[in-house]
Amino acid sequence: AQSKNEIGRVINSFDRMRYELKKSLEQQIEYEENRKELISSISHDLKTPITSIKGYVEGIMDGVANSPEKLEKYLHVIYNKSEHMDRLIDDLFLFSKLDLNRLPFDMEDIQVSRFIEDCMDELKLEQGHGDIKIKMQNQVEEDTLVIIDSQKIRRVIFNIVQNAIKYMEKDDKILTISLTERQDTVSISIMDNGVGIKKEQLPFIFNKFYRVDESRNTKAGGTGLGLSIAKQIIEAHGGTIWARSQQGEGTTICFTLKKVMNGE
Ligand code: ADP
Repeated sequence: AQSKNEIGRVINSFDRMRYELKKSLEQQIEYEENRKELISSISHDLKTPITSIKGYVEGIMDGVANSPEKLEKYLHVIYNKSEHMDRLIDDLFLFSKLDLNRLPFDMEDIQVSRFIEDCMDELKLEQGHGDIKIKMQNQVEEDTLVIIDSQKIRRVIFNIVQNAIKYMEKDDKILTISLTERQDTVSISIMDNGVGIKKEQLPFIFNKFYRVDESRNTKAGGTGLGLSIAKQIIEAHGGTIWARSQQGEGTTICFTLKKVMNGE
């Protein structure tokens, strides 16, 4: 009976090993698939502006841009396409560093209320979007602290606000920032009254390189990495990020940050 037990144990451990092996193989395959998908998206997104730059440069060389106005227009397109590539490469670097956990996080206790207000002031200065109304709804105590890498959370806020600005086509643009406090978290929501996102596309907007079809064709140049970078940063802080949207009404992006509890 003892040897039967022994055999049973050995079979069990073989089964476990087989299961673990299968799981790791599946993970490997998924990782490989993701990698292939990533390379193909990057190649596509870099190829598009390069093709266009080449086309315009050839146009200039062939003498098609035969007036100062035309030349200026061609150079303008070349400049814009190069800017887009520059942004894509910057985002890509940041994204891959975050993905590989190679980016150090410089965590400190920050007064969240002040910090968000400062970020919004900075944004107003930087963007110079006089035509956008920014409303603050702040229900957080002044001395509430969160533990964050402020540079990276600033990046999250900028990415979200930049999207809101990009995808608001109305004349009457309103951005509402709300801060609410729960027992151990602070939630920050950024609401716009822009074009909104279709229900079936909403689950994918945090995926890398995901861009809603229509936005690929608009003048609003993007990389499809802004929200996936935001998600990586928020999750590295132990928070969550999600979106609500109503087509034609607007979009709200919400995220949470951990509060510094008394005695911590
Ligand atoms: P992108 O560089 O394309 O803006 P993001 O990762 O930041 O990439 O966003 C992914 C997609 O989600 C965008 O292409 C856009 O279609 C959609 N999206 C994000 N924010 C908004 C918003 N505030 N309003 C409407 N659509 C949005």
